[in-house]
Amino acid sequence: MIIAANLKTNLTRSATHSYINELELCTQQSAQEVIVFPATSSLDSYTTIITIGAQNAYPVEKGAFTGEIGLEHLEEFGIKTILIGHSERRHILGESQEFISKKFHFFKEQGFKIVYCVGEPLEIREGSKEDMLAYLSKQYEGIDTEYDNLIIAYEPVWAIGTGKIPTLEDIQDMHKELKQKSSAPLLYGGSVKVNNIKDILHVENVDGVLVGSAALYAEHFCSMIQAAQDLH
Ligand code: PEP
Repeated sequence: MIIAANLKTNLTRSATHSYINELELCTQQSAQEVIVFPATSSLDSYTTIITIGAQNAYPVEKGAFTGEIGLEHLEEFGIKTILIGHSERRHILGESQEFISKKFHFFKEQGFKIVYCVGEPLEIREGSKEDMLAYLSKQYEGIDTEYDNLIIAYEPVWAIGTGKIPTLEDIQDMHKELKQKSSAPLLYGGSVKVNNIKDILHVENVDGVLVGSAALYAEHFCSMIQAAQDLH
């Protein structure tokens, strides 16, 4: 299973060091693939078996893009994993599918592991299934779904940070649909917690989880890694 943590705009560099050190202890005994996406200013050269990824970077080596970081900044820390298409970047920061696809191709060319997020907002969810699938299909436009270093995360926007999750049947149904678009490992994300992770990981075609707020405490995230481990 792939168990990933998106730390968003949380944990300073020093707090992230402590966090990674704590995670290291529980990950050593585990066969799970663990990925952590720290805040940009908390990126560093961590000595760890955990994969460290960037939450974002501009699709350029370096240049005049105020406030952004480029490939050179990731290379400094040996980072070869990136999160692309997260709903907060799509909806709050206004990233278009065209720009997301440009970013995807830039980092694909560099051989990065890409965790690519898709998901529908509530108003789309409340419409027909056909409209929902059409909405999600647009998020695959310009994306190489056969890229061999691709992981997809299905994250219904209305489930992110809200404590609401789709029913297990709905997760199964959506994962079945999305597996037809790409055979890449498919994570579920959106209000995954210590108390629901086991049920979610049992769902067919769920290859792991992407966790936000519930991963902010290393102890909780370790329990989730352990839950994945207990499945085997
Ligand atoms: C996320 O933002 O990727 C996420 C899954 O957040 P949360 O777990 O807090 O819903």
